Amino acid sequence: MQPTSTFLKKARELDHNDPLATFRQRFYIPEGTIYVDGNSLGLLSKDAEQSLLRVLNEWKTLGIKGWLQARRPWFYFAEEVGEMAAELVGAAPGELIFTGTTTVNIHALISTFYQPKGRRTKILADELNFPSDIYALKGQIKQKGLDPGKELLLAPGTDGHTLDEDRIVNMMTGEVALVYLPSVLYASGQLLDMEYLTREAHRRNIPIGFDCSHSAGAVPHRFSKWGVDFATFCSYKYLNGGPGCTAFLYLNKKHVHKEPLMAGWFGYVKEKQFDMLLDFKHTQSAGGWQISSPGILGASTMEGSLNIIREAGMEAIRKKSLQLTSFFVELAGSMLSGPDHGFSIVTPPEDHRRGGHIALTHPTEALRITEALKARNIIPDFRAPDIIRIAPVALYNTFTEVVLVASALHEIVKNKEYRKFKKQRKAIS
Ligand SMILES: *Cc1c(COP(=O)(O)O)cnc(C)c1O
Repeated sequence: MQPTSTFLKKARELDHNDPLATFRQRFYIPEGTIYVDGNSLGLLSKDAEQSLLRVLNEWKTLGIKGWLQARRPWFYFAEEVGEMAAELVGAAPGELIFTGTTTVNIHALISTFYQPKGRRTKILADELNFPSDIYALKGQIKQKGLDPGKELLLAPGTDGHTLDEDRIVNMMTGEVALVYLPSVLYASGQLLDMEYLTREAHRRNIPIGFDCSHSAGAVPHRFSKWGVDFATFCSYKYLNGGPGCTAFLYLNKKHVHKEPLMAGWFGYVKEKQFDMLLDFKHTQSAGGWQISSPGILGASTMEGSLNIIREAGMEAIRKKSLQLTSFFVELAGSMLSGPDHGFSIVTPPEDHRRGGHIALTHPTEALRITEALKARNIIPDFRAPDIIRIAPVALYNTFTEVVLVASALHEIVKNKEYRKFKKQRKAIS
């Protein structure tokens, strides 16, 4: 094992030459902590705080007039913030709207795109997806009067942690009506080849959608260029919108004529919404899939947060994110390997197959090691049964912090520090 001081020296050099280094000062880092949990809940920035305070003041001073007279009129907030975020995911004008929450958007989109007909009745997803997505798919299948036990196909993981794209493609048979997959797997951090999967689905005339909650803000996408049919992603992970912040919904413009079945008045033709007619006519853009009045207060942070991300640029963010995660992998190879440690990394090693976090497994003590890290004011997270997720985030983490996390892990295991903690998991870990 190389001495920690050698790695610290290298880290300081990387920090010194980091073109994104100054962005850290625009975030509130919880005092005395090393926060490597931005894949679960991103941190508050001063910019996001400012936009929230501004909107609060607009409500205070304008009352209902804020819908049209606020600096960014609330009536157009969802459309305008959608336009602001479009470059992050490669959406064309009108294809991205800031609305709903991830799971609600999944319901809204699947209800449109899942149209079982003849032999094509199945939805193809994967067994490693986030549970909420699977619950929503099963609910949508039942809504059509069908049996999820028969109609939901789950592509199996190859090693319990990752998916093989070709195996998924092989399952795109003539019985599949729709494919729905994650961009980055929430546990292992594997990044799927969305362009390839989209091309192969379309070759078989199957529409395909993605949940990009674990990649938006960490990995640039090109939805429109790839022809992705639809997508959704939350904004509280790498997009730093705040707990439960409004999500995004992407709809490829070739589908704007389709019917939003979870219809609501905010999806109505914008200029005519207040005509209050009883026959629903949706606006011909992603906005047509909005359901309710946007929760402007909860949504307001996104404006400031997106200013930071746009200023930094998605390509620069991705570049630093990959440097941070590959640095962690290098450190783990030196400090956390060997039988006395028991750690393995289940995140794919190749840059193009990796999202923004590293998943470390420990066969017996992952939970207590996570607790020991937290006691040292290092915040990762734990996913049952054996995964510790470490997400060094480009906008606010440093290379030096990555060394400190790896050396803390090394010491916790070497000194059996985890023994001080209970094996009981808290409600949120
Ligand atoms: C974070 C996340 C969610 C969360 O869903 P909410 O509706 O926002 O609670 C859903 N799916 C995936 C893949 C996620 O990463």
